[in-house]
Amino acid sequence: MEVKMLIGSAFEAGTESEESVLNPRTGEVILKMPEANLEQIDRAVASARRAFASWSRTTPADRSAKLLAIADAIEANLEELAQLEALNCGKPINEVRNEEVPGVADCFRYFAGAVRNMHSPAAGEYLEGHTSMIRRDAIGVVASIAPWNYPLMMMAWKLAPALAGGNTVVLKPSEQTPLTALKLAKIMADILPEGVVNVIVGQGASVGNALINHPGVDMISITGDIATGKKVLKAAANSVKRTHLELGGKAPVIVYDDADLDRVVEGLKAFGFYNAGQDCTAACRIYAGAKIYDRLVAELSAAASSIVFDNADDTLNEIPPLISQRQRDRVASFVHRASSQKHMEVTAGGGVHEGTGFYYQPTVIAGALQQDEIVQREVFGPVVSITRFTAEDDVIGWANDSQYGLASSVWTNNIGLAMDTSSRLQYGCTWVNTHFMLTTEMPHGGLKQSGYGKDMSMYALEDYTAVRHVMIAH
Ligand code: NAD
Repeated sequence: MEVKMLIGSAFEAGTESEESVLNPRTGEVILKMPEANLEQIDRAVASARRAFASWSRTTPADRSAKLLAIADAIEANLEELAQLEALNCGKPINEVRNEEVPGVADCFRYFAGAVRNMHSPAAGEYLEGHTSMIRRDAIGVVASIAPWNYPLMMMAWKLAPALAGGNTVVLKPSEQTPLTALKLAKIMADILPEGVVNVIVGQGASVGNALINHPGVDMISITGDIATGKKVLKAAANSVKRTHLELGGKAPVIVYDDADLDRVVEGLKAFGFYNAGQDCTAACRIYAGAKIYDRLVAELSAAASSIVFDNADDTLNEIPPLISQRQRDRVASFVHRASSQKHMEVTAGGGVHEGTGFYYQPTVIAGALQQDEIVQREVFGPVVSITRFTAEDDVIGWANDSQYGLASSVWTNNIGLAMDTSSRLQYGCTWVNTHFMLTTEMPHGGLKQSGYGKDMSMYALEDYTAVRHVMIAH
């Protein structure tokens, strides 16, 4: 297991901290968390700055070749990466092996192709005797800060477009999930020139804070909590750094009366509880039409209760535990506060799972009202609420009545109603008759306090490059 950080071309140990990296299935310590010191953070940024001079001058074809080599190496190391991610996050191995790690390789391949197709829109004589052209150039050193819910995937979403665009990176994974980041660092060090990627480890308040405030950093990209995003914005304001913020969600799911109930239940069982709901797009805030409401509550509750987890045969497991005891306590306290209010009923789950590890039962809370905490706040656990509605205008108003604006879905067989509702929702993504489906060619990112900037797609490449005007006098 790799435990050393990548700084320049050297692999360096961090200082052993009091915090441990845990196996969430058992609560056992995997290792004592290493922590970068200030001098190491300085050197990581300095090495990225040095590497920028030459990396930003490579051709798109050169960078593309390196990204393709990284994708190939990820596939060659797929089993080890999958096992590490499963160990550190408690994820069912089949999901990591068949979905997440292949998705990571695909992300590097997409940006390898995308950068060779990045064109600038204008070249011409807009002022007599002068030719103008638009260029897209690298920004500089990007500090990338990742969360714990999809450690490898978030790393790929940040690294691939940044590197494709000609930037160099200092990446900090979550202190809770550094294992695959350190392994990927080892893989990338064999492919990329010295200093193009640096990976340092440590807590947000110490290492993360030093990194986002570092004068040698030109752009900060973070996926995390709204509160963390605000800290990034404050740090960025001091030295006017660019920012790219992906800050969580509370996805509304509008189920109209005419929706195909079997499809809805199958979809919400999968997309409400995937990764134990530790997903910023999780289908967790359900609004059901008055005529379909009772059947949806009954069938979704039965479906949620049938979800398999903590089975000795991991191939049967559908969801992982929560990442930590703290996260499980947080989820339990949300459910406790909701269930102590008379108008709400827990119709599935509602308790901590007996046994070792940080498991929480897949939970459905019926009868929730718009102003309830369970409807308004992100739980980031296997908990969905269901709220009854009668009028289309009401439900669209409620869906938009949120500080978040990341993802949403509409379920109906009426194409006009689906199009009308989609056009009125204030969310970065709206799915119709599905939820959660992502593809590397399409953008992912939010509105409102879910942040701004897109992951994946050509839009990410735009975010990680700067528009420049060059004018030539004749
Ligand atoms: P978090 O904000 O606590 O931590 C995210 C990262 O930020 C970690 O690496 C952490 O060490 C770092 N960090 C924390 N404080 C910092 C500081 N002061 N300065 C610099 N870095 C700091 O979030 P989390 O608990 O790891 O992840 C869960 C959150 O991430 C949820 O709110 C979730 O919705 C969000 N998320 C959003 C998306 C998206 O695409 N919008 C995707 C996944 C997760």
